[in-house]
Amino acid sequence: MAWKRSSPKDGKALQYTTIKARLYPSEAQAELFEKTFGCCRWIWNHMLADQQRFYLEADKHFIPTPAKYKKEAPFLTEVDNQALIQEHNKLSQAFRVFFKNPEHFGYPNFKRKKTDRDSFTACNHVFESGPTIYITKDGIRMTKAGIVKAKFPRRPRNGWKLRRVTVEKTKTGEFFAYILYEYAVKEPEAVAPAPETTLGLKYSVAHFYVADSGELADAPHWLKQSQEKLARLQQRLNRMEPGSKNYAEAVQKYRLLHEHIANQRRDFIHKESRRIANGWDAVCVRDDDLREMAQSVKLGRVPDAGFGMFRECLRYKLAQQGKALIMVDRYAPTSRTCSACGLVLDDAVHYKKRMWTCPRCGAVHSREVNAAQNIKAQGLAQYFSMQEREVA
Ligand SMILES: [Zn+2]
Repeated sequence: MAWKRSSPKDGKALQYTTIKARLYPSEAQAELFEKTFGCCRWIWNHMLADQQRFYLEADKHFIPTPAKYKKEAPFLTEVDNQALIQEHNKLSQAFRVFFKNPEHFGYPNFKRKKTDRDSFTACNHVFESGPTIYITKDGIRMTKAGIVKAKFPRRPRNGWKLRRVTVEKTKTGEFFAYILYEYAVKEPEAVAPAPETTLGLKYSVAHFYVADSGELADAPHWLKQSQEKLARLQQRLNRMEPGSKNYAEAVQKYRLLHEHIANQRRDFIHKESRRIANGWDAVCVRDDDLREMAQSVKLGRVPDAGFGMFRECLRYKLAQQGKALIMVDRYAPTSRTCSACGLVLDDAVHYKKRMWTCPRCGAVHSREVNAAQNIKAQGLAQYFSMQEREVA
């Protein structure tokens, strides 16, 4: 994975990429990792409880630092302090987004061993004596744990800087490290879009997306198959007696399948966004609030089936090539405008209606393709009016 943000250095941009390595910790190292997961949960829960107490007593938002807890809980000193500091950062961030948009981001929750992910993150610090985290030929050196045996699918290139590592234990008991690298690249030259090389995409509940050309991005067959399987498992679980041995087995099966589907979907999203970013000079999408939309159609567990992630993937994959993802205003009437004659209907076309006919020019439209065409036209207009303003 790589994304990009502009940096103040002229003509250079920073890019990030993650290498996922399988870890083979010794017994002692595995024990230390388990302890670290536990300490991270412990410190998170205590910081959160204290935040709540301060808020009630003094009406102040304040999160104590991990150092404040070490006297009362000396076992915290046995694990990597960086992991604890990272929990403080994560909790602060969770509150920042919550305060900014409380309707969409829930209040931070307490972590429970049963439901929480077993993981911790440590940032790399480079001292005169050397970095705190680095990789060797067949291992990764971490604070406290020492060198942990690891298998790398690829190696970092020259000039990549190791920023941080997340260690995670899967539900099936395997350990992985997500190693984040940062590197500088030359800012690519901006590509100007033309109508023939621009793609308009509409988010679609039924097809994931519909393009202005009429192309649909139906999720692959195998993804649908596993989703059906998951639904069947869910039904079976609902009929079973909680607490029985069969129930526990079914829950484990459900979890594994769920993990599998998440991987499959991520894979699909990455490939599909790569294909589009390479094939087109610009992409227009609506700046929809996907969470809100998903709630209104009650999709349940997978709110937008990953369309939000897809949009983000598109953005950085296009940006890597100097191309633009153009966000069209979410209130633009793209669904109720006739793309042939420009007539704007008073009311939205019902989302269950697949086709409609324009009362003025008689054009017959597929509801979603017509919307995608309007998104593209609107996006291009937006892009060129912004260019003009910049020139003027
Ligand atoms: Zn018309």
